[in-house]
Amino acid sequence: MTSGFRFSNRSERALADLHPDLIRVARRALELTEVDFVVTEGRRSEARQRALVAAGASRTLRSRHLTGHAIDVAAWIDGGVRWDWPLYPRIAAAFKAAAAELGVAIRWGGDWPRFRDGPHFELDRAVYP
Ligand SMILES: [Zn+2]
Repeated sequence: MTSGFRFSNRSERALADLHPDLIRVARRALELTEVDFVVTEGRRSEARQRALVAAGASRTLRSRHLTGHAIDVAAWIDGGVRWDWPLYPRIAAAFKAAAAELGVAIRWGGDWPRFRDGPHFELDRAVYP
């Protein structure tokens, strides 16, 4: 059984130049999830990363977004984005199930001990340097 959720054109554009294994995981996660989500950001330019760090929205210039190894999502409820924390572990459960099924090693930003980042998923550096 699948969710029946579909990626919007905006989500498809954000997915387009990511690592193919991450795209596969995101597509399967959307089939498995109970909470609909949109892809807000995929690959980032260095200029954008610098701007995010300057604004305090990111903490590193070595972001996995620069190489197409990271994706940010947002919960999509009744036609709008929601940032309520309880939605994100549910989306993460779908990503983790998808990754396990496909044999792809991912990390969820919500599992980081500091600066928890619920919308962020990335391919594991240990496997995808
Ligand atoms: Zn991110």
